[in-house]
Amino acid sequence: MAEPQNFRDHIPTITDTGNKRKWMYPQIIKGKLYHYRDVVSYVLLALLFSSPFIKINGEQMILLNVIERKFVFFGIIFWPQDFYLFVLALLTFMVFIVMFTAIFGRVWCGWACPQTIFMEMVFRKIENWIEGDWIHQQKLNQAALSFEKIAKKIAKHSLFILISFLISNVFLAYIIGSEELIKIISEPIGQHMSGFISILIFTLVFYIVFSYLRELVCTVICPYGRLQGVLLDNQSIIVAYDYERGEPRGKIVKNTEQNLGDCIDCKVCVHVCPTGIDIRNGTQLECINCTACIDACDMVMEKINRPSRLIGFMSEDQIKTKSPFKLSSKVYAYSVVLLILFSVLSFMLISRTDIETTILRAGGTLYQLRDNGTVSNLYNAELVNKTTKLVKFEMRPIDPDTKIQYIRKEDEIQKGSSIKVTFFVLRPQKSVSKYKSEIGIEIWSEGKLIDKIKTNFIAPPNE
Ligand code: SF4
Ligand code: SF4
Repeated sequence: MAEPQNFRDHIPTITDTGNKRKWMYPQIIKGKLYHYRDVVSYVLLALLFSSPFIKINGEQMILLNVIERKFVFFGIIFWPQDFYLFVLALLTFMVFIVMFTAIFGRVWCGWACPQTIFMEMVFRKIENWIEGDWIHQQKLNQAALSFEKIAKKIAKHSLFILISFLISNVFLAYIIGSEELIKIISEPIGQHMSGFISILIFTLVFYIVFSYLRELVCTVICPYGRLQGVLLDNQSIIVAYDYERGEPRGKIVKNTEQNLGDCIDCKVCVHVCPTGIDIRNGTQLECINCTACIDACDMVMEKINRPSRLIGFMSEDQIKTKSPFKLSSKVYAYSVVLLILFSVLSFMLISRTDIETTILRAGGTLYQLRDNGTVSNLYNAELVNKTTKLVKFEMRPIDPDTKIQYIRKEDEIQKGSSIKVTFFVLRPQKSVSKYKSEIGIEIWSEGKLIDKIKTNFIAPPNE
């Protein structure tokens, strides 16, 4: 007999008529995995809230200043000049995510994504604390207006707004920097009107996300969930129901001979699901791998004295053939690409100089013949200090016969800024053998060679 497939015709968060949202009331079951998730989420929340306030090398640990195009990771600053590195790092990260998903499914979503952590481990807990468990929440929402209902809703939404406000502040600290944020908080609002309005807008966005949108962010808005169909295969480890063991499902009838599988069709796994799906129907894009159904089913199995993990982390092949876990060839291919990208990125990061120098011959100029038998070319140089400290420097031509004569001399660059230098390069004309030759200029700082640049020099050849 064909399996019923009607679950594919609708999404669990919409009513059968298709015109109304069905509000989710997931039951919270505190099993073993839930406690692990608790610990993981507290660690990640502590990291998320503290990292904008931790300094490494005088810089914020993580800064994503898209406005000024300045990015800081663990004290290393990336400027617009390093954009190629940023793109490469992003590409490497994406390949890593693809590979990770192909092996472990959507485990990021359930365990590490800030959306799930805030929703399930912060906002959902507050809701349960104020309104009671999933049954009480449903009753409260269906009940007529009363003092209790109004008081509970005001208390819940006030806390939601307060937490959204906190998240909004931290979010802004990642973008504009914690020092700027502290100024917005401590100085008169009038001096930071745009910053203050940004905090209010982000607060509103977070409040809407966590009080209203909720699971729709994962099932409808987030593009990552939609990728599952192409990233997963039969060897991916995902939250799955062992249908070979569970089917045919059915309620236990005492003192009756039954030829059933281990699933007693209690539907507890459905009640705990924050996206409202029935995992027994197979992998669905709404599944965020939160593992709540694993905990729920394990508890049921324990009660009825059957082995745990009727729902567990398994691949389709493991369920079907009971074969041990094996990596697919797709994963090996991703690993090779990832290794190449990672090696290139590491090489570029290691060979990245503290000072980035560009030297170009001044546009529209030719050579100048001088009375003392030298020939000169005019150059413009731009030096960018990518470090977090002031850098003193000196420019030296590689060839000992070549000299530099400054028009505007600079010998230091403030942290994170750039300077322009204009100068002549002079060479004895007798040493010039062709019209266009290459010269080298070294940049030295505190007795250390920090950059080497090659540029063109033009002069009439010595006959
Ligand atoms: S919790 Fe386990 S036993 Fe109950 S319906 Fe789900 S899979 Fe079946
Ligand atoms: S099916 Fe299970 S793992 Fe997937 S979202 Fe629902 S409860 Fe979480």
